[in-house]
Amino acid sequence: MMKLPKGTYKGLAKILGPLLLWMIAGWAAYPPLLDKISLAMGETVDIDEIKLLSYIMMTACAMAGIIFIIYGYTGKEVADAEINALNTEKWPCPVCLSPQPAEAKKCKNCGKNIIR
Ligand SMILES: [Zn+2]
Repeated sequence: MMKLPKGTYKGLAKILGPLLLWMIAGWAAYPPLLDKISLAMGETVDIDEIKLLSYIMMTACAMAGIIFIIYGYTGKEVADAEINALNTEKWPCPVCLSPQPAEAKKCKNCGKNIIR
């Protein structure tokens, strides 16, 4: 398996965390909504079972959401790890012609400043 830099999924966690917390509201609204629908359809549902499912899902979403938010908003930040991983473009140093990362300001080989 490829080793990814720590914090690679922080961006994703920042999106998923609040989304999971938002889903709690969805699961909270599910039993009364289903109750109304089943009443309108003239069917009977086991509302206690639905409520239990909704509580389990709310708890799961809350825990996962909090974990994602903690992971997403704390700890070491990797600046655009995905973008950096894609950017493998190298430029030759104007002095010694050794290949240097595109964002390098100083040549790693000869130590001369690279001006672009
Ligand atoms: Zn150089």
